[in-house]
Amino acid sequence: MPVIDAHTHVFPPEICRGRAAYVARDPWFAHLYANPRAALVPAEDLIASMDAAGIDRAVIAGFPWRDPGLCRLHNDYMAAVAAAYPDRLSWLAIVVPTAPGAAAEAARCFALGAVGIGEVNADAQDFDFREPAPLAELVAACLHADRPVMAHVSEPVGHTYPGKGTATPEKFAHFLAAYPELRVVAAHWGGGLPFYELMPEVAELARNVAYDTAASTYLYRFAVFRTVLDIVGPERVLLASDYPVLRQDRFLRRVRAAGLRAEELGAVLGGNAARVYRLAESRAADD
Ligand SMILES: [Zn+2]
Repeated sequence: MPVIDAHTHVFPPEICRGRAAYVARDPWFAHLYANPRAALVPAEDLIASMDAAGIDRAVIAGFPWRDPGLCRLHNDYMAAVAAAYPDRLSWLAIVVPTAPGAAAEAARCFALGAVGIGEVNADAQDFDFREPAPLAELVAACLHADRPVMAHVSEPVGHTYPGKGTATPEKFAHFLAAYPELRVVAAHWGGGLPFYELMPEVAELARNVAYDTAASTYLYRFAVFRTVLDIVGPERVLLASDYPVLRQDRFLRRVRAAGLRAEELGAVLGGNAARVYRLAESRAADD
C-alpha cells in the first residue's frame, strides 16, 4: 500500500525568492510568511523530503490567496510540477470560493489534472462558512467533476497560532448542511469536528467529510489517531503533514507508532487519500 501525504504546501520559486513582494500584496500571506523563518519551499524540496521519509505520493496545495490572479499563477505552477513528477505529486487547485470565475477556474484546473480544490480558507479569502450561498457555483463545479473541497478548519478552543483563524466546526457545519452531497476534506482534524460525531445528527451531517491530520503534532497528542478512528471509523482519516510545517519523516514514524491496527494503518497512510482524491483514476486519465 503506497504512503500518501494528503496535505502539503509548495510555492513557485519566484514567490520563495521574493516573498516580500507577496507579503505586501496579501494580508494572510503576510500573517504567515512575513516571518523569514516560516519556510516557503518549491516542489523539489518536497520531493527530497518524500524520498527521505519513504512517502510515495504527496497531494500539494498552494496558498489561499485573496487575489484570483495569484491563485491562477499558483495553479499553473502546481499543474506544471505535477506533470513533471506524475508518479509523486497530485495537486489541489486554489480558487477564491466566492469570487466571480471561481467555478470556471476550478473546471480549468480539473481539466489540467487537479484532484480537488483546496486549501480554501475563510479568514484568508474573506468568506464565511455561515453564509454558504455565495459558494454555490464552486460547489456545483466540484459536484459535476466529482472532486472534493479541502478546507482549513480550526479549533474554537486552545492555544492561538499563526494561521489558526476562526473557521470553527460550528461555522463549518452551516456549510456542510447547505451542500450535503459535496465531498469535503476538513483539514487539521476538522478543528475537532470528529469529536462531535459522537452526536448522531452531527455524524449524519459529516457523512461526506474526511479528516486530514495536517499539523497534528502542534495541535493534539498522538492519541488523537486512535480516538478519532474509534469515533468515525478507519475510512475517513487521511495522513497529512502540512509539510513544511511538520517534518515528514518524523511525523510518519510517529503515526506508524500511534497504535493503529495494520488494516487501519494502510487506510490512513494512503488508501483513504487514494479513494477520496480518486488518485488512481486521475493517473489512468493521463495515460
Ligand atoms: Zn495546510
